[in-house]
Amino acid sequence: MTARLLDGQALARQIQREITPQVADFTRRQGRPPGLAIVLVGHHPASEVYVRNKLKAGSDVGFRADLERLPESASLADVLALVERLNRSDAHDGILVQSPLPKVLGPDAASRVFDAIAPEKDVDGFTPANVGRMVQGRPALVACTPSGIIELLVREGIPIAGRRACVIGRSDIVGKPMALLLLQRDATVTVCHSKTPDLAGVCREADIVVAAVGRAGLVTKAFVKPGATVVDVGMNTVTDSAVAASLFPEEHPKLARFRERGSVLVGDVHPEVADVAGALTPVPGGVGPLTVTMLMRNTLRAAQARLAGSW
Ligand code: NAD
Repeated sequence: MTARLLDGQALARQIQREITPQVADFTRRQGRPPGLAIVLVGHHPASEVYVRNKLKAGSDVGFRADLERLPESASLADVLALVERLNRSDAHDGILVQSPLPKVLGPDAASRVFDAIAPEKDVDGFTPANVGRMVQGRPALVACTPSGIIELLVREGIPIAGRRACVIGRSDIVGKPMALLLLQRDATVTVCHSKTPDLAGVCREADIVVAAVGRAGLVTKAFVKPGATVVDVGMNTVTDSAVAASLFPEEHPKLARFRERGSVLVGDVHPEVADVAGALTPVPGGVGPLTVTMLMRNTLRAAQARLAGSW
């Protein structure tokens, strides 16, 4: 392996250390801590884990972090009423509605609920107001995963301005905001997706590749220019032994772990990429911890902006 590992976990801890005294200062001045409310509807095993991690991270930096749970049987009106109550709450500066919402709420439930969140409390950066502001380069609460990736690139000294960047994936929560943030930092950006012909060839031209697809090991050596920086957003649980064997050589500890547990967490980037890339984020321990930390930073910023009336 030749690629330098970009340690998202270490940077997340560093940013937490930066945030914590600011939270203490806010609490001392206001007589209350910044408040984060997380709305969880129904039971979704992965969401339970994500929400637990976010609540813990919130408490660790000194926030009031509240879980607002609704049952699987909740209606869309119930979810919207809860969001409205949190919009009016003085104790809460940030509101996050955990995705996915139960399917029974209907296909447009997520957009209806996100649209209902007050933009100044939208710490996920999903509301049209925040997305629009971000597109125009105005102050905004920006989606946590892409803003964490920018933070990582900047603090690791990886040049963005004037470089070619390729973002694979065009989702509203990762791919699109990622492309815009790279563009704002003067990269020349290409956005690739499931209909892009010659994906490997397009990616091979890039100095920075961000893979946000959700396909284990999609990005192979053939996608990567020697020395390029590769950011792996994907989080895929592999349970198929043939897929695990295609990703890891026989002696690899992750293959041993897969055989022990029957599953292994992998990114979108094939492990062989470490032989060509200049720098690479690991999975786990790369983008994931930064996403949670950016949520904390957004909540603190939302609290400070509400206080200053600067929204
Ligand atoms: P999504 O399903 O909404 O979007 C996936 C995108 O990939 C789509 O735009 C699609 O066009 C594109 N795509 C699908 N197949 C493709 C192919 N064969 N070639 C090229 N492009 C293809 O997913 P998402 O919400 O953006 O998440 C992407 C991945 O990132 C998932 O694995 C998700 O779990 C992970 N994720 C991780 C974090 C984190 O904090 N680490 C946060 C968000 C998402």
